Amino acid sequence: MNLFSLLDQTTARHSDRGAVFSGEHQVQTWASVRERALRLAGSVSALGPGARIAVASANCPQIIEMMFGIWAAECVFVPINYKLHPREMEQILDDAGVAQVFASAEIAARLAPLTTVPIEIVGGADYEKRCTADPLDPPRCTDPARLAWLFYTSGTTGRSKGAMLSHRNLMAMTVAHLADFDAPDENCSLIHGAPMSHGSGLYIPPYVLRGARQVVPASGAFDPDEFLDLCAHHPGCSAFLAPTMVARLVQTGRAKPPNLSTIVYGGGPMYVESLKKAMAAFGPIFVQLYGQGEAPMTITGLRRADHLDATDAVLGSVGYPRSGVDVAVLDADGRPAPAGEIGEIVCRGDVVMSGYWQNPTATEATLRDGWLHTGDMGSFDADGYLTLRDRSKDVVISGGSNIYPREVEEILLEHPGVVEAGVVGAPDQEWGEVVVAFIVGAVSADELDAYLLERIARFKRPKRYEFVDELPKNSYGKVLKRELRARLA
Ligand code: AMP
Repeated sequence: MNLFSLLDQTTARHSDRGAVFSGEHQVQTWASVRERALRLAGSVSALGPGARIAVASANCPQIIEMMFGIWAAECVFVPINYKLHPREMEQILDDAGVAQVFASAEIAARLAPLTTVPIEIVGGADYEKRCTADPLDPPRCTDPARLAWLFYTSGTTGRSKGAMLSHRNLMAMTVAHLADFDAPDENCSLIHGAPMSHGSGLYIPPYVLRGARQVVPASGAFDPDEFLDLCAHHPGCSAFLAPTMVARLVQTGRAKPPNLSTIVYGGGPMYVESLKKAMAAFGPIFVQLYGQGEAPMTITGLRRADHLDATDAVLGSVGYPRSGVDVAVLDADGRPAPAGEIGEIVCRGDVVMSGYWQNPTATEATLRDGWLHTGDMGSFDADGYLTLRDRSKDVVISGGSNIYPREVEEILLEHPGVVEAGVVGAPDQEWGEVVVAFIVGAVSADELDAYLLERIARFKRPKRYEFVDELPKNSYGKVLKRELRARLA
């Protein structure tokens, strides 16, 4: 089993149809993507099966042919978030033992002084020469356990580690997406609003299998107006967006383009109030996923229909287990916790990684007794919906009581004067830890305190408020709790 077969099948049926678009303009048909991928495969095949090949670029149309070319050569695609500092990129190249980098011109210039790994500019003369090399034959008997995607986790709470994902893992993710979330065909489009080095890139396989257009915004970035214009231009549009991107779409005040049919959101918490605003603005087009690099895009979810007439509890949950995935909440003794009780979320299934690249200690800590330990804390309700309470490290223990920051943040965000809120624990002589809230917005500490007193247990209220202009976030828009805690240390 090789993921290249997805491109092969679609090319057989739709060879002359538009496959890859830069903005509104077609740049490749399926036949030309397949041919360029196999020629690229021919040009890298000397590196040998299993060689790690990194791609460090803002979203660009060539990412699709590189992905399938690297897979056709049985090499490993190592996506690198283009917003990382070159030093962080170099650490990934070093950790993964990367043999070749394809980078945008700007990244190549900044990375070259830091590494001896050969770097080639995507779309440059040497790259284009590769696309005329002798093509490889399509792979026919790839071991499904062969590594396809080495994903360095974004590190919201710790050092970046390479999650090893095989062809089988990404095939399971593809099938679950088509079973649970979306039913695209050749008259549909996937608009790459989010980074293709992460969620949007992982959605390439299911949409390629169904022959849907791959549309890469010409800016290579997420601009809400550009995104909405593209949705008005292309047929049957779907996209994966981070919650902060959904909020930015709503802020445009524009109406939903008729062709925009599905927005999958996830990868970080979507607060109920923000989700309601988005549904009021765009209608029932939202799908939620809960996943992580170690079980890409696929642990639990809420389908479009689950959002209709849903209670706040359902909207605030991460839904229920995805097709082919077992999900459980374990208590402190490692036993399944009853409904309503908070414990660590674990999952298993074909979508789960085989471990962290050359990191047996981290692998053993994370893959135990056949389960992936997500590090997220949550609880199932009596109807089977899972709600995330927080990452286990984020629990604040104050005077012996556990306080889950997410719960406090949800309430703070309901206050009309609060734009953003990040809650963490600060060391305290008396209490062990106290709750501290970082707030972006026009509101006073007294107002917030009074507001919380009405809505939440006293002991959960922040003992202190820090008013800031913005919250520190990683390049995927997640609030960096580590950094907030460091400010208080
Ligand atoms: P990453 O591996 O960088 O994709 O981060 C995965 C983490 O993001 C998960 O372990 C969760 O803590 C968080 N996350 C993912 N999806 C959701 C979601 N739908 N709601 C809240 N948090 C999420």
